Amino acid sequence: MSSLANYQCRSLVWLRRDLRLHDHRALAAALAQRGTICPVFVFDTDILARFDNPRDRRLTFLAEQLAELNRRLAARGGRILLFHGRAAEIVPRIAAALGVERVIAGRDYEPASQARDAAVAKELNNHGIDFEQPVDHLIVPAERVRKGDGTPYKVYTPYSKQWRAALLETDYAEAVVKDDGRYADPADLSRELNKAGQPLLQSPTDADAILKQIVYQRADTAMWDIRRGHELLADFAAGRMAQYREERDFMARPGTSRLSPYLRFGFVSIREAFRAARKTIGDGVWVNELIWREFYAMILHFFPESATEEFNPKYRGTLDWNRSDADFARFCEGRTGFPIVDAAVRELLETGWMHNRARMITACFLSKDLFIDWRRGEEFFAQHLMDYELASNAGGWQWAASTGTDAAPYFRVFNPWLQGKKFDGAGAYIRRFIPELRNAPLQRLHEPPPDDLFAGDADYPAPMVDHRQAKEKAIAEFKKAEERFSTRDQ
Ligand SMILES: Cc1cc2nc3c(=O)[nH]c(=O)nc-3n(C[C@H](O)[C@H](O)[C@H](O)COP(=O)(O)OP(=O)(O)OC[C@H]3O[C@@H](n4cnc5c(N)ncnc54)[C@H](O)[C@@H]3O)c2cc1C
Repeated sequence: MSSLANYQCRSLVWLRRDLRLHDHRALAAALAQRGTICPVFVFDTDILARFDNPRDRRLTFLAEQLAELNRRLAARGGRILLFHGRAAEIVPRIAAALGVERVIAGRDYEPASQARDAAVAKELNNHGIDFEQPVDHLIVPAERVRKGDGTPYKVYTPYSKQWRAALLETDYAEAVVKDDGRYADPADLSRELNKAGQPLLQSPTDADAILKQIVYQRADTAMWDIRRGHELLADFAAGRMAQYREERDFMARPGTSRLSPYLRFGFVSIREAFRAARKTIGDGVWVNELIWREFYAMILHFFPESATEEFNPKYRGTLDWNRSDADFARFCEGRTGFPIVDAAVRELLETGWMHNRARMITACFLSKDLFIDWRRGEEFFAQHLMDYELASNAGGWQWAASTGTDAAPYFRVFNPWLQGKKFDGAGAYIRRFIPELRNAPLQRLHEPPPDDLFAGDADYPAPMVDHRQAKEKAIAEFKKAEERFSTRDQ
């Protein structure tokens, strides 16, 4: 028997934001075709170039999941082929070397990914190979939800209404993966790839070995167990989802799902999260959050420049930000002297996650109280968030900085003292993340210290700014920016 019959693989499934083996649009599409299939994942050096922490938590999370999926696939006769290098080059090269008919990958709406995918499509086309991109990461394709005149929405509420009107049952139906006996023989594939000069990463069922080959080290991800996503969804749906509206803003309570890292990398499919919500609450506030995720993805798709530029043209290049590196460093260390802000930043540094209310408070504090460019905050979050998602992060930062689509107006500046009092009244969140304040009286957590204490406690600094003055200054700066814009425009 010729080895061709064994390794001949018709469809290559390129995994990216969909690291699971169930409810999977790309796998289901490949399995709907004749012939064997082969899943592939590339640790893309174009993306890794931005991951300069050798112990980045997200890479451990990914390596563990890939190792786990490979253990499961081994039992079904398959394997995810792992590569390290430029995905834009590797994918067309291996597709051509293996003689596949098509490459299938879930659609990615980020501008850099779209550019990479366009280059991959062109290269595959040169080899006569199709490139299919089913929408998997969103429930409703970003292009579908538009205003009557065909233009994209810029405001969330009418968008969410139209999103609900445009939703089809097929959008959230399970993409069933029936894969028995459908994987190309991994040993044969590996031999062919070696012949073609494209070596695979070895020991694909061992996360540590995978990390070593891509030159990263294991990070502490105890709190982000790769198997926990479905448990979180089931627990949340069984109880807290119904109380989400009342509980979601209290940072010390488990009022939100904490599913974001699992949704970001597709360990849990967005469709199963949505189905769980339909079954439990029908529609409601938690579903709105899933629609916010789709809203920001849609905004990034239609307005890719909004990843780096102010969405509102009035503020594009007109705001004269505070460029102090020292002020920014204090924010990033969680030593601003505002307990609720510092607790939030330390939560991020310690766990790789931050509560949504805390993200809003810290983003507002950086961009208004410190008047530091939101892009610096966006980049800081991007380095640390387990769930980092360009669309939601840039969207969230621009919302808080009042520069974005449907953003908070510039004169609405959160008072961090009142936010702390309201959403962490007993101080449990602050005390959990700021050990220096563990024994401090509640007043110290929620009120600016009196003048005699203004120099700061022994271990914890005094507030960097006076909130009231900082707010007035920020508002004045926004007014100046609007003046600059109107004179520039004449
Ligand atoms: C400044 C700032 C930066 C942010 N950066 C990110 C980011 O990089 N990645 C990210 O996934 N979310 C981001 N968010 C949105 C939100 O804070 C997180 O999605 C949420 O805290 C995740 O926690 P959860 O899974 O418990 O959410 P839940 O409250 O349980 O919500 C369920 C899911 O809905 C989505 N979601 C919820 N709120 C939003 C929102 N406002 N915008 C978009 N999607 C939302 C998430 O996928 C989330 O997992 C940001 C918000 C702000 C204000």
